[in-house]
Amino acid sequence: MSDAENSPPTEPTERRAQPGESSFDSAFEPVSVFGDESTMDLRPGADNCYKCSVCDTTCPVAAVDDDFPGPKFQGPEQWRLKRKEGSEIDDSIMSCSNCMRCDDACPSSVPLSQMHNTARGEYVDEQMDTLSIEYLRNRILANYRTSAWIASKVPRIANFAMNFGPGRWLMEKAMGVTNEREFPAFATQTFRAWWGERGGADASRQNAREARERRGDPVDAEKKVAYFHGCYSNYNTPEVAKALVRVFESFGYEIVAPEQRCSGTPMFANGMLADAERAAEVNVSSFSDLVEQGYDAVASCTSCSMAIKQEYPELFDIDGIDDVAANTFEALEYLRIQEDLEAEIAEASVDEQSFAYHAPCHARNQGLDRQALELFRGLDGVAVEDVGDSCSGISGTYGWKAEKYETSMKIGEDMFEHMHDAAGDVGMTECPTCAMQMEHGTGYEIKHPLQLLEEALC
Ligand code: SF4
Ligand code: SF4
Repeated sequence: MSDAENSPPTEPTERRAQPGESSFDSAFEPVSVFGDESTMDLRPGADNCYKCSVCDTTCPVAAVDDDFPGPKFQGPEQWRLKRKEGSEIDDSIMSCSNCMRCDDACPSSVPLSQMHNTARGEYVDEQMDTLSIEYLRNRILANYRTSAWIASKVPRIANFAMNFGPGRWLMEKAMGVTNEREFPAFATQTFRAWWGERGGADASRQNAREARERRGDPVDAEKKVAYFHGCYSNYNTPEVAKALVRVFESFGYEIVAPEQRCSGTPMFANGMLADAERAAEVNVSSFSDLVEQGYDAVASCTSCSMAIKQEYPELFDIDGIDDVAANTFEALEYLRIQEDLEAEIAEASVDEQSFAYHAPCHARNQGLDRQALELFRGLDGVAVEDVGDSCSGISGTYGWKAEKYETSMKIGEDMFEHMHDAAGDVGMTECPTCAMQMEHGTGYEIKHPLQLLEEALC
């Protein structure tokens, strides 16, 4: 590599027109549009777009909302428009649900969601009234972990208050949080409280050693994972987090549950990039130390693994971020890579049951949309039916906004219909907010694949 390539990027300097150059040439200087271009240069991405419009045809919001201009506009076109002096980000960027399906669809690898995230962040920072109800509502929704932490101190009272009719009516009128959905219940004991009571990493080390002995694996084998449980498994569905712990330990993995914040997923979707960066700094710092010690990071939520693997390195410059991103896996993905999971499943059996499985958009983006179907095909007593490739429509906080509720339900119609057509009347998915939408649209109980794996193997 030449010295020039090793040198840090230098600031562009103004210069006069040279003989043979037009004044237009001399006037042209790279413009930093969405922040520091030395770390986030979106121009090559914009230039890669050849306007095929494939992304527009896969956008679930554009399919049901005639006012939404679609990913091509929100990405490369808006980027170019913004280069014109005085122009602003179009407010329709707030109608993008950040499902990231367009990323997957683009044949030219245009970094659409990176463009959307940066544009949304710029819109919120520079154009949104931070005293408005909409901003306040979005900030509260984006920082779900804060509300959940408070609610977890008094879960029974919180569960009553959050679904108290007149309070919900007021919340919709005053804050724009839809009254149509039931708030998910807070657990009476968080995952972290259970984990601590159980003995934390020491107990896990012991359980893992015993499992390795039972399995005939070398007792000193280095099987270590750092669990990113995220907010929802901690505060609302600790049964999913516990299933992960039991399943991984049964394969001989020692688990640690390091300090962590929200993955940032709801913050990206609401353009709260400063909040997301603060959370990412804590997460990367916690997990990079462990990655250096030989741990891999596993997440039970596909949006959390997506955020760490893709959105963090695309949007932030934090020490250790690339190593953490490269060593983060979704839980089932990890076990399928490291273990002969199919063989273990083939020898197991459970009580007869049928599931209607929905692959979350963020699982699709990581190439994980078939994993539960392929895995459980071999499990005696179980039928898992794919309900198609549509988006569930809720996209985290999106479907909780009163003005987006109808759009969210229209997007989900396909999935609801296919769930009703499927033989099973229990749903299955890896994403907690898709689970909320599945339950809301069909009334079905929803399980995480880890819970079925626990039933089969533990
Ligand atoms: S992220 Fe989803 S909603 Fe947003 S533009 Fe892309 S496909 Fe549409
Ligand atoms: S799919 Fe990619 S190349 Fe085609 S219009 Fe969209 S961004 Fe451009």
